[in-house]
Amino acid sequence: MTFLPGNASPHFSWAELGVTTATPAAHRDAMGVLASTILEPIRARVGAAVRVNRPDLGLNGRGWRASRGIGSATSQHLVGQAADIDIDGDLVALFRWLAFDSGLPFGQAIIEKRGTPHWSWIHVSLGVPYRDPGKVGQVLCSPDGVSYQRVTRATVL
Ligand SMILES: [Zn+2]
Repeated sequence: MTFLPGNASPHFSWAELGVTTATPAAHRDAMGVLASTILEPIRARVGAAVRVNRPDLGLNGRGWRASRGIGSATSQHLVGQAADIDIDGDLVALFRWLAFDSGLPFGQAIIEKRGTPHWSWIHVSLGVPYRDPGKVGQVLCSPDGVSYQRVTRATVL
């Protein structure tokens, strides 16, 4: 596996995003859009590193290509349209900003945990035109990786 050299956006290399020389061009291009329009504004908000899943290093191995066969067969991870991110700091606060205050054009924002007492990562994906306009701006939590619940501003996480 050879990662694509260079950067997808000012703070994210193709390697960090798990994009290789074998990644289909459409998937690579989508990941570039995700980096520029979603991940960079999140990076600016955090003011520090934002870690992105990667197949070989990623968050519990759930890289966007490695996620094939895990979860939904229509996952945006499979086509370079989603990332699972983590930060040093308050993940819930970041999630609430992303979901309710950022104005970012995401498809889904999901805060997830897998067998840990704390929230593990935020899943964020591209919205229109990558996702059905009727299914964008979805804000969810998944405490177990199986069930997904809607989250509102008033929800206590
Ligand atoms: Zn995800």
